[in-house]
Amino acid sequence: MLKQIGNVQIQDQHRASCHCGAVVLEIHLPNGIPCPHRCDCSFCKRKGAIVAAVPAADIKVIQGEAALVKYQFGQHVAEHFFCGNCGIYTHHRRSTNPNEFGFNIGCLEGVNPYDLNDVPVADGGPWRSP
Ligand SMILES: [Zn+2]
Repeated sequence: MLKQIGNVQIQDQHRASCHCGAVVLEIHLPNGIPCPHRCDCSFCKRKGAIVAAVPAADIKVIQGEAALVKYQFGQHVAEHFFCGNCGIYTHHRRSTNPNEFGFNIGCLEGVNPYDLNDVPVADGGPWRSP
């Protein structure tokens, strides 16, 4: 669990936003951020975001639900959300565990994802990029 990234303390309810500010999430991270990683699936290798996952109940869209666009592929289990205005990926329902949502660490308020060193790459399973 990461309680801090760079000089930024992770809040119990940490906000995250897209680039234009239309979409705002509140993510319940009482113990910090679990296992930041990248994923090597065909979608994530294009997206390039560092992600972490929380139970679905711990992530709430508090602003801009209408601005979100959903993208699906493959077996249509995962739901990838991005802002339809600025194009930034904010969060997604995971294919490996649909009861969890992954989120974009680069969207967390105040957090510079480049302060993370050596982010592991997770196996994208059947969607692994060739
Ligand atoms: Zn936006």
